[in-house]
Amino acid sequence: MSCRKSDIIEWFEATAEAAAAVQTETLRRILDRNRGVEYLKKWLGDVNVQEMDDAALESLFTSSVPLASHADLEPYIQSIADGDTTPLLTQEPITTLSLSSGTTEGRQKYVPFTRHSSETTLQIFKLAAAYRSRVYPTREKGRVLELIYSSRRSKTKGGITVGTATTHVYASDEFKMKQQETKTFTCSPQEVISSGDYKQSTYCHLLLGIHFWEEIEYITSTFAYSIVQAFRSFEEIWREICNDIRDGTLSSRISIPEVRRVVLDTLGSPNRDLASRVEAKCRELEGMDWFGLIPKLWPNAKYVYSIMTGSMQPYLSKLSHYAANLPLVSADYGSTESWIGVNLDPSSPPDKVTFAVIPTFSYFEFIPLHRQNHHTDDFVEDHPLPLSQLKIGQQYEIVLTTFTGLYRYRLGDVVEVAGFHRNTPKLNFICRRKLILTVNIDKNTEKDLQSVVERGLKMLRKTRADLVDFTSHANITKQPGHYIIYWEIEGEVEEGLLGECCREMDASFVDQGYVVSRKSNSIGPLELRIVEKGTFKKIMESFIANGAALSQFKTPRCTSNPVLLRILNLCTIKKFHSTAYDPS
Ligand code: AMP
Repeated sequence: MSCRKSDIIEWFEATAEAAAAVQTETLRRILDRNRGVEYLKKWLGDVNVQEMDDAALESLFTSSVPLASHADLEPYIQSIADGDTTPLLTQEPITTLSLSSGTTEGRQKYVPFTRHSSETTLQIFKLAAAYRSRVYPTREKGRVLELIYSSRRSKTKGGITVGTATTHVYASDEFKMKQQETKTFTCSPQEVISSGDYKQSTYCHLLLGIHFWEEIEYITSTFAYSIVQAFRSFEEIWREICNDIRDGTLSSRISIPEVRRVVLDTLGSPNRDLASRVEAKCRELEGMDWFGLIPKLWPNAKYVYSIMTGSMQPYLSKLSHYAANLPLVSADYGSTESWIGVNLDPSSPPDKVTFAVIPTFSYFEFIPLHRQNHHTDDFVEDHPLPLSQLKIGQQYEIVLTTFTGLYRYRLGDVVEVAGFHRNTPKLNFICRRKLILTVNIDKNTEKDLQSVVERGLKMLRKTRADLVDFTSHANITKQPGHYIIYWEIEGEVEEGLLGECCREMDASFVDQGYVVSRKSNSIGPLELRIVEKGTFKKIMESFIANGAALSQFKTPRCTSNPVLLRILNLCTIKKFHSTAYDPS
């Protein structure tokens, strides 16, 4: 095992050292493998890339094939979904499509998923596990409390399987191999992961996590949201879980026959001792507002592992509360379209984490972005650069050319180069590129909104209250338009303080377009709406009902979706208007 771990680390170190050459080779392999597909023929003709030298290949590719958005590829992807088996994007027929970022962009998009997607997933899991185990060694044959969920898979009318990327991965052979090869096993059998009902899966994940308590080496999920969501429900269902452990039974909440069968088989005989110990611990935890729940219930766990960056940052404070002194290890950076970078330094705190680009996974280009407040566009762009020409401190949008048939595809993520690992860039995730809050000349990204909310939270946290979740909306139904921020909070807070939080947030937007518009009252005062407990859970459930998977769920940080706005507005219990720019 240790030999295999060092093999994969050696492989990555050598790849990172030769990053530029590896990238050209990756591009050559992608183009060679997909030579003659309709999309490439349109731009490149039928060139034989094997005969070209490196520089000529890269320059031919970037000068002939245009940058593309998802909309440019959509007609091809739609034909694939409809059953066209001619080589449109890839030579290998595409039999599976994934749903990507519906929760961030408001609309779900299909992207091709191939064997390569599962293989790279396995590879990044192994690579990250190898680096992690150097810092936090775990016992072989241990278990992982993995809070993961598959969503429904369906078939298009052309017979193509459709589902989220994580769903495809959990169903793949590679996922089974991951357990064998990393010598750590998930607590929940496949039937639990793919039950299709997140509440039943959560209950069983937690129950089995308690059952295997001694063996649990770490707790994980794809995005941190799912861990927080699961432990919030644990606070409510722990008694029932203890009853099941004590009696060897299974709550009537679990109604799916194969899930019942497999969970009951796994639980085996009643375990009175364990039930009493867990009950005692939970009673104690209840009195401590569940601080340190994870180490208390799973004393052998070494860390918590999940994506904690970007739109997951708001859940960090709750996660740290549950984890107490256990390290929080940030998981890797990728998307349904392609994996991108690996966290090589598991001990770095979530707000400092960087992701080293893996040059064999896709061909990466980076569009330099310069913020210009008075420009009509949100950013000014320079020509896309290859990975070898990036500058530390500069922000870029990522462009992908993948083995799965995406060519110069704009991912829409903004990253900043924090440094290099050998010759491959280490990226900080900044935000999704799309502007989320804009009424007229004002422009704010998800990152801007997050900083503003952080400022408000600083005031809120002076009390014992905390934020459960938040979103926003640019309301232009009345003149002047204004921003609304929706907060769900736990704990009691005085109205006066909430009014202050609202004022503080309004005054914290630094975008000049916003400041100028607020001063001239062409944008009205920021409104803070407090929604009742459980509102964001309803939002998550409404996404899940529409085919999103809990494993990939990200609360939209801004919404104009009428269904969500209806939920938010119906659940609003208090409203505050900022006085930040009132004439004194
Ligand atoms: P999806 O493919 O729909 O699950 O979403 C992929 C998107 O999630 C990426 O494009 C990023 O915006 C975000 N994402 C993925 N990994 C990370 C990470 N480690 N840190 C921050 N954001 C991430």
